[in-house]
Amino acid sequence: MTNEILNSLLKEYDRKKIQAEIDLDIRKKELYEKIPELQKIENDLSTYAIETTKNILLYKNNSANDLKEKISLLNTKKNEIFKKYNIDKNYLTPNYNCSICQDTGYVITNNYQKQMCNCLKQKLIDYSFNNSNMTNLNTENFSTFNENIFSDDVDIQKYKFNISPRENIKNIKKKCENFIVNFDKKETKNLLFTGNTGLR
Ligand SMILES: [Zn+2]
Repeated sequence: MTNEILNSLLKEYDRKKIQAEIDLDIRKKELYEKIPELQKIENDLSTYAIETTKNILLYKNNSANDLKEKISLLNTKKNEIFKKYNIDKNYLTPNYNCSICQDTGYVITNNYQKQMCNCLKQKLIDYSFNNSNMTNLNTENFSTFNENIFSDDVDIQKYKFNISPRENIKNIKKKCENFIVNFDKKETKNLLFTGNTGLR
């Protein structure tokens, strides 16, 4: 089940990522038609970026400074154009929903480990929350708890207890409240609720 949820969330991530990239392509196309010089700068920057990578891979350091200078000059020019036309500096970057994982759902840690991004973790938590009864917390909580709906009659034969269901539920409520107050203490044990299927 968890895998199914994760897969469907990742499909949704993929869809959003692709959409963000399509939107960027449209923005780019429009902008380059308006300001062709900007396209030339972007093309040159891409070429120089490839050259820089090639140099690094081939351990060629002789033209590194020259390339660095060219790239810096082009970036200055680009910034000037952005300023002149009052374009937001993020206009040519994709509008991902999550800038940390760029809508992939995963990040690479400092130890080169693939780790789930917080946004995806939150989505899984939201899903579990929405599919639990916890969304009713506003109406179903200790302040709206009504012990009077439980019988005050002791019926050992029926309930196998020598206290009434009301007394029993009051004890359970007290135990739950103690659990909440002492939740962060080491000696506090977990609570386990059991019952027949369909009971809550
Ligand atoms: Zn993320």
